Amino acid sequence: MATVIYKCKNCGGPVKYSATLGKFNCEYCNTVYSEDEVKALTLLSEREDVVVDAVNGDYVEYHCPSCGANIVTDETTVATNCYYCNNPIVMSGKLESSQMPTKVIPFRVDKKKALESFESWIKTKKFVPKSFFNDKQEIEEINGVYFPYWLYNTNVLVDIDREGSRTYTRTEGDYRVTYRKDFRIVRKGDIDVKNLPKLALAKSNKVLVESVYPFDFNNAINFDSSYLSGFVAEKKDIEKEALMNSIEDDVYKYSTKVVRDSMTGESVNVVNNDFTVGQGSFEYAMLPVWAISYNDKDSNKHFFFSVNGQTGKVVGKLPIDNAKLYLSGLMAILPLFLIINAILYFTGNLQTGTFLIALVGSIIAYLLYVHKVHSDYNMTSSGVVNRGVNQIDFNNNYAEKIEYCKDIDLGTRVISRSRIERK
Ligand SMILES: [Zn+2]
Ligand SMILES: [Zn+2]
Repeated sequence: MATVIYKCKNCGGPVKYSATLGKFNCEYCNTVYSEDEVKALTLLSEREDVVVDAVNGDYVEYHCPSCGANIVTDETTVATNCYYCNNPIVMSGKLESSQMPTKVIPFRVDKKKALESFESWIKTKKFVPKSFFNDKQEIEEINGVYFPYWLYNTNVLVDIDREGSRTYTRTEGDYRVTYRKDFRIVRKGDIDVKNLPKLALAKSNKVLVESVYPFDFNNAINFDSSYLSGFVAEKKDIEKEALMNSIEDDVYKYSTKVVRDSMTGESVNVVNNDFTVGQGSFEYAMLPVWAISYNDKDSNKHFFFSVNGQTGKVVGKLPIDNAKLYLSGLMAILPLFLIINAILYFTGNLQTGTFLIALVGSIIAYLLYVHKVHSDYNMTSSGVVNRGVNQIDFNNNYAEKIEYCKDIDLGTRVISRSRIERK
């Protein structure tokens, strides 16, 4: 199986893909190469590779084309650095036939920028314990990783023609009147689903790697293994069939969202039967992510973060200084609570009833605030949960997704009328 190093033709140094240049370069003599030029620089290992019979999964032993050392990798690893001579190695033999990706988004964010993004992101997280982030010394490791993804494309036919109603109550003089408004909602047309990405590597942390969405697929190019030079890369070990349930889920969620967005005020129940999902197609792509492992010396725990290698977006779970959070919540809500009571007092409306309403309202606001910070820091927020859906929305950034939308007013009628008791 072929193991490749790209060697500079001027000095023999290793040639890597540079996120800064958007081209390939030799770090020793700074010679810059295009994709076509770099393909001519391959140095291959001529020795046979050995599959190591390991108890816990398959490990494969390769030979570094530069120093000849044995390199043991996971079965899925297709690019790495030689542990001995540090040359960037691409195991291009592992990417043959069905394992050959069709698309790649090359790194745009280099290691320095990824660290800068991480640093400025963590500085905005004011409830992280002070001891957690002092300087970047606690970063143990940072690796540029190409993760394997399936990209799903399809179109969805919408066909909704349904009557619905909405009731609302109004005070009219001495009466409380409840109305029912009937209407017919028609939605017909096509919804495009483009490049819905699904991580195709079993051993990776799905939430962490997928939460860096969105990627801009306008910058995806045809795959060539030379782009992996200088990075770690993993090939897929999840087949597309295994992802169909999760894909269908995202497609329905997204279609429902598009239809809901096209409705104002009145809405009818939108169900999966309103959609006919077309015959989909897949592409196999490598997408760039910086993986950071971080050691909190204070708690001696490890934390993991991901940085989108194209956009610099940072995600990861963070520890919370709860004392700081509870105090800050109190400082935000307490003044509001006092102002409301002062207004009630000076307008002569402060009674046990209004005081309790203000108190309960403030407690709810406080709990919501604490909950929001917790779900943000623990990565359970809705943005993270709906990451696939958000990515499709990002790809389809145009207004008219459904061609035919019509709301027909079928009239409004009174359904109940009751006299208001006055004290
Ligand atoms: Zn060189
Ligand atoms: Zn080596």
